[in-house]
Amino acid sequence: MTRPADGQMPPSLWAATAPQRAPHRALEGTREVDLAVVGGGFTGLATAFFARRLGLSVAVLEAVEVGFGASGRNNGQVIPTLSRRDPADIVARFGAERGERMVALVRDSASLLFDLVREQGIACEAEQAGWIQPAHSPGRVAISRRRHDAWGSRGAPVEFYDRDRLAALLGSGSWHGGWGNRSGGHVNPLALARGLAAAVAAAGGDVHENSPAISLAHDRGNWTVATPRGALRASRLVLATAAYGADLWPGLSRTIVPVNSWQLATARLGENVRATIVPGRQAVSDTRGELGFFRHDASGRFVTGGASMLSLAGIEGSLRARVGGRLGAWFPQLAGIGFDHVWSGRLGVTTDFFPHIHRLGESGFAWIGCNGRGVALAVSMGRELARLAAGEREEQVALPFTPIQPIPWHGFARRMGPPLALWGYRRADGREVG
Ligand SMILES: Cc1cc2nc3c(=O)[nH]c(=O)nc-3n(C[C@H](O)[C@H](O)[C@H](O)COP(=O)(O)OP(=O)(O)OC[C@H]3O[C@@H](n4cnc5c(N)ncnc54)[C@H](O)[C@@H]3O)c2cc1C
Repeated sequence: MTRPADGQMPPSLWAATAPQRAPHRALEGTREVDLAVVGGGFTGLATAFFARRLGLSVAVLEAVEVGFGASGRNNGQVIPTLSRRDPADIVARFGAERGERMVALVRDSASLLFDLVREQGIACEAEQAGWIQPAHSPGRVAISRRRHDAWGSRGAPVEFYDRDRLAALLGSGSWHGGWGNRSGGHVNPLALARGLAAAVAAAGGDVHENSPAISLAHDRGNWTVATPRGALRASRLVLATAAYGADLWPGLSRTIVPVNSWQLATARLGENVRATIVPGRQAVSDTRGELGFFRHDASGRFVTGGASMLSLAGIEGSLRARVGGRLGAWFPQLAGIGFDHVWSGRLGVTTDFFPHIHRLGESGFAWIGCNGRGVALAVSMGRELARLAAGEREEQVALPFTPIQPIPWHGFARRMGPPLALWGYRRADGREVG
């Protein structure tokens, strides 16, 4: 028995603005399906959706409610890149053929998400307005150029911006140049999660909320996933619990360091102010290790966030001051603005900053390690997991399997890793690169 995610959906901008949820009934009794999916975030729901398309019967178990994890709490930026790994890193790690396949998956990930939203008519405030990565120091403009060239040579719809062009795009001269990808954009993430769950149900799949998986057993080709009031029996399994999962599968949750990230949404901006800040409404996240990121939402708010060295209750005041100060420095017209919503979520960081896909026994699969950039990626990885569940060979999917290697001294890494990394990022962000 293991301790699943518990609690209830915390207040957030997205909880306040997403369309009313249609509850999904808890699992009662024993059910048989082809594919059991554990976790009702983007990964689990996309896996179930694409598995239905491949003809599998499927049921999703969600411990609390759809979007309870990172999927319902993030900044909603749909970004077709990995967070700290460029195409050359991916190819160096996975080889030319597999690496380029992964690069192509990431390149197309934003379009896959927005196309799915349009096709399924999901009301999630989706705006495919593009994504911009501004360089926060002159030396980092060279990195922007390299990223632009690397993705552009692979067919991504990229643009490079000099300082003046970028200042016009952002409504701020705080950055030195940068690049962007027109296929990116932003969504209301909780609305997207709820919409994906509805799409799974409409496609004939089952979604069960308040149905934590509390144990897993594999016997003669069949998985049994037990919940407090029922069980799923299935020939295939996908674990999609990300940083909210406990050790349902031995060691899996210890392959990542869970990191808390804070989100803050301003009071509604007047139309005249809004028009001066990122008037093209792109999603923006800059080159800082301690990311500077922001976007508009559909209700007229500006949604940003930040990290903290501490994950204790009681940091909200200092967080508001720090994030508000940063926002006011970038956009003086926002100096002193208040925040109507403050919330946090947990994401999984791997020690090599690559996402990992794992085989669990003969017919179980999982991916983990979004490293903070998983809205678009989770949907695409869900499609890969569905293909694996439908019998696709490992060589045909985007990422090779990684052995499950728990991080040594995980308890220590979990406690000390995030504050130490943040301290390191702040130092590195302050230094120029050559
Ligand atoms: C604050 C924050 C901001 C972010 N901003 C961005 C961004 O702007 N752009 C971007 O690309 N990425 C962003 N990310 C990352 C992105 O949100 C994640 O990569 C993505 O949502 C992961 O989706 P998932 O389905 O894999 O995991 P999750 O959404 O975390 O889903 C896991 C689910 O599993 C459930 N679960 C756990 N244990 C059990 C169990 N035993 N039984 C049943 N269910 C269980 C949980 O309740 C949860 O709903 C952000 C993350 C956070 C936390």
